[in-house]
Amino acid sequence: AFKFSGVDFIEFDSLLSEDEILVRANTRAFIEDNLIPIIEQCNRDGRFPRELVRPMGELGFYGATLEGYGCAGMNNVEYGLMTQELERGDSGIRSFVSVQSALVMYPIYTFGSDEQKNFWLPKMATGEKLGCFGLTEPDFGSNPGGMRTRARKDGDDYILNGEKMWITSGSLADVAVIWAKVEEPGIPQENWRVRGFLVETDRPGFSASDVHGKWSLRASVTSGLSMQDVRVPASNVLPKSDGLKSPLMCLSQARYGIGWGAIGAAMACYDVALQYAKQRKQFRGQPIASHQLVQEKLAWMVTEITKAQLLSLQVGRLKDKGKVEFQHISMAKKNNVWMALECARMARDILGANGIADDYPIMRHMMNLESVKTYEGTHDIHTLIVGQSITGIAAF
Ligand code: FAD
Repeated sequence: AFKFSGVDFIEFDSLLSEDEILVRANTRAFIEDNLIPIIEQCNRDGRFPRELVRPMGELGFYGATLEGYGCAGMNNVEYGLMTQELERGDSGIRSFVSVQSALVMYPIYTFGSDEQKNFWLPKMATGEKLGCFGLTEPDFGSNPGGMRTRARKDGDDYILNGEKMWITSGSLADVAVIWAKVEEPGIPQENWRVRGFLVETDRPGFSASDVHGKWSLRASVTSGLSMQDVRVPASNVLPKSDGLKSPLMCLSQARYGIGWGAIGAAMACYDVALQYAKQRKQFRGQPIASHQLVQEKLAWMVTEITKAQLLSLQVGRLKDKGKVEFQHISMAKKNNVWMALECARMARDILGANGIADDYPIMRHMMNLESVKTYEGTHDIHTLIVGQSITGIAAF
């Protein structure tokens, strides 16, 4: 097996602080020691490595940018480098951490009451409690505003009904952040406001069933959620959530980490392809790395990885200054996932037949990245977000 030692073509590390480099090193060591030895088997078995949940909590991987509640209080670049290393291991593990952090702890932290924060965040930081984020529905993906899930006020409670689909960690979760439209009698349904609800998954009427037969993110749990007259107290509403903007703020957080994560998957593929190309000999006993067409592919990969690093770093620095705009994050998510998929395909090509086998991580990354391209706003939707920001015209 090849040893991974990172990718740095233009002294990128000189742009990072010592703490940032340390977070990356610690995450890389954890992944190398704990995930790399088991991930191919997990992928074959379609198994999420649950045994890593608590150890990742001990290292501060959950809600890492949040302050207090036992969270690590990382800056956004540290957090990004962490997700890069997680996804160098596997996009499914990174997805799990993204959901727990950006899609569950972040909304509780941002829109929650003190009581909700004090109850959930410390237990979620350690991994004692797990969460999922239910926005997508069978008929509403890119356009979540059309959602049918609804909440009806009944005395001091709300009663929830609806279906959510493609929900990461759905059947693992102790609590689901469910986005639903609150019924307002006399007002047309399309004008009902979206709000966030904390739904404990053991409530009567709530069920989760896993999606099987996935060829992507096989080491991550993906579920459908069904809610039939699920009763929650009004104290389970996220009090500061108001409208579709609230879940979109969560998605912005997660997409930022995905932009970095994709760099990790690309690095894994490039690194394997480079090492393989220097060893594999074809024609006159020469390594395939000596052929111009192979070098062209490797040079393309390292160039695109380098550009992606600079893009994500700048977006991260803007985020730390409170100056990031969602279109910046869209550009990084869209570009970096695209370039990672291209790297995976080129790396597969360089390994020839060996590239299709799971002795090497390449096909796993390639298949994982197909989900990453689609979830959290598809590649094309992010193109339209960038397009809207530069033209002022929405083309959705
Ligand atoms: P659609 O919206 O039907 O899109 C299909 C195609 O049409 C795409 O190419 C899209 O770009 C294109 N398209 C749609 N509208 C337009 C337009 N206006 N202009 C141009 N092209 C358009 N969701 C959650 O809520 N929580 C989760 O935890 C979660 N985890 C996921 C995990 C996995 C493995 C996957 C695959 C998905 C997950 N999702 C989750 C759902 C994900 O966010 C959606 O799949 C995504 O938003 C796209 O929706 P869709 O699949 O319904 O595709």
